Amino acid sequence: MAEVPAECVIGVDLGGTKAVAAAVDRELAMRHRARREILRQDLPTLLATLTALVDEVREGVRGEVEGVGFGIPCLIDQDRHLAASSVHLPIEGLAFADVMAERLGIPAFMDNDGNLALLAEHHAGAARGEQNAVMITLGTGVAGGIVIAGELYRGAQGAGAELGHMIVDADGPECGPGCPSRGCLEALCSGSALARDALAFARNAPDSRLGQALAQGRDINGPLVTELAFDGDPDAATLLTRLGEWLGIGLANVANIFNPDVVVVGGGVMAAGELILGPARRVLADRALALPAAHLRVTPARFGADAGVLGAALFARERLRQRVRA
Ligand SMILES: [Zn+2]
Repeated sequence: MAEVPAECVIGVDLGGTKAVAAAVDRELAMRHRARREILRQDLPTLLATLTALVDEVREGVRGEVEGVGFGIPCLIDQDRHLAASSVHLPIEGLAFADVMAERLGIPAFMDNDGNLALLAEHHAGAARGEQNAVMITLGTGVAGGIVIAGELYRGAQGAGAELGHMIVDADGPECGPGCPSRGCLEALCSGSALARDALAFARNAPDSRLGQALAQGRDINGPLVTELAFDGDPDAATLLTRLGEWLGIGLANVANIFNPDVVVVGGGVMAAGELILGPARRVLADRALALPAAHLRVTPARFGADAGVLGAALFARERLRQRVRA
């Protein structure tokens, strides 16, 4: 029988396709991880799935749970406790955390997934100890988080820090659903953007390795581009260099506006590592003002895929502590 951990909270990372949860103890150790597919579930099914997911983790740690935090790829209106404008989940306009608290019978909290990834990195990862930190997560979309003077910055309504929708190319490609703009960081540096550009390249260059992969019926996506680039394919490397350069434009804006100590770059696209960060740092040095550019450290995230769960748990613990004080 597993030892009963004291004072666990549960973190839940909600993506567009799956939800991952774990109980997290005071030492940030994850206990009893669980996951569920949630792709295209309607609201009643989704709520039932998430309830079952959290209950499974609670049973795994024998019920010793103080609260649960949810990280959601969604704008959050913290004043009104509402999930606003979610593209991937049917929770728009729902007081999601309140609904889950009632179903689960324990306190529940929610925040944007980009904020929570940075909370984890700031608490114990690549931004630890820094007063001014920014995180950019290059996944299917691009999420952001900002720490100013040691605290997460959420903006007037809790909808700030959407660094993925920083416009870096005014005439660039259209951004994703939910965004009226074009040329956003998300439209140029996300995994979806990389897959789009790689597919266009493969169609135009059937003799290239990407073109051959397309002819073989392989999925043309970010992981394939990264694999080919590490294998020495110059076309795949060029795609990643270009992505890194667009990221560098974003970093130059971030450096000039926030003068942060560190920018942490995470997400699945960062499997390409320095193939992206190298060009990004070069553009940053060329395009940002000298003082903030020289100070800024650009570094990969520490927690990778676990950042969302850890951050959601840390957020729940933070909010529980505030309740005790209030
Ligand atoms: Zn956008």
